Amino acid sequence: MRTLLTGSGAAAVGFAAAMPPDVGEIDRFSRWIARGDHAGMTYMERHATLRQSLDNVLPGTRTVVSMAFSFVPPQERPQTLPAIARYAYGRDYHKVIPGRLAEPLRRLRESYPQESFRLCIDSAPVAERYWAVKAGIGFRGLNGSVIVDGCGCYCFLCELLTTLEIESDTPSGKHCLQCGECLRRCPTGALGSTGIDCRRCLSYLTIEHRGDWDAEGERAMATDAGRRTLFGCDICLTACPHNRNLPPSPIEEFHPSPDMLSLDATSLFGSDRELRQRLAGSPLLRARPEGLRRNAAWNRNGE
Ligand code: SF4
Ligand code: SF4
Repeated sequence: MRTLLTGSGAAAVGFAAAMPPDVGEIDRFSRWIARGDHAGMTYMERHATLRQSLDNVLPGTRTVVSMAFSFVPPQERPQTLPAIARYAYGRDYHKVIPGRLAEPLRRLRESYPQESFRLCIDSAPVAERYWAVKAGIGFRGLNGSVIVDGCGCYCFLCELLTTLEIESDTPSGKHCLQCGECLRRCPTGALGSTGIDCRRCLSYLTIEHRGDWDAEGERAMATDAGRRTLFGCDICLTACPHNRNLPPSPIEEFHPSPDMLSLDATSLFGSDRELRQRLAGSPLLRARPEGLRRNAAWNRNGE
């Protein structure tokens, strides 16, 4: 199965037995929610309970197949342009990854007609980073990301849940260096030893937050990095030594188009229709047209 799935372009594939998550993981997530660090992502509150059993996603799950897909870009946007998170340079991974896994999944279903399979790409309450570590495809960094050989933190994670029993992989023997660079470089103080406080995180504020920012959000957005970004923030990723000298992703759909390499704030002032047409298939639409215009206006005001 590993060979079949790796053929989809995955940088890493690992298997973990579907046991209930460790008490420490449940506790860590519950405390993160209790502090309100998830900001406006209220669906996370519902997930806190649902994540505790994979049966809530696929009854009878025996194995979690965790996969990582590299999005390391072959080219960067010029530093003179406002920042856009690298994960959004190419096509939307919610569409690309299922397309790449469609044939392997078809073959698995054909080979194991009695078994069930469910692919999860941000589409179900699954603790994807926890399972990635359990399945041995990487290790957790202080920046909260899973670090995978060959693509560092620059990878999309997804899970294939199955009722099929597969021998588990051993955990990665590698570790975060604990150098603290990611924490020191976070421009808003959002990243701490207990995780990310989304109320101050530029990624959350420019992508997931709907409407105007509150005073705390505005303070974060008023930093130099906040004024410089149009969509997301990679600072705690670029700070990490594990993310240096990585080969570009073999998945061309994640490479930037010429339009993405030159897009500036002015490009995001269109009508809803214009933006939806121009950005069709891009992860930028996650912020919705009104969110992109908000970010662009803020960016221009700081010029
Ligand atoms: S994404 Fe940016 S603002 Fe958010 S925690 Fe990382 S460095 Fe801080
Ligand atoms: S920057 Fe240092 S502390 Fe942060 S995740 Fe990378 S290795 Fe770990």
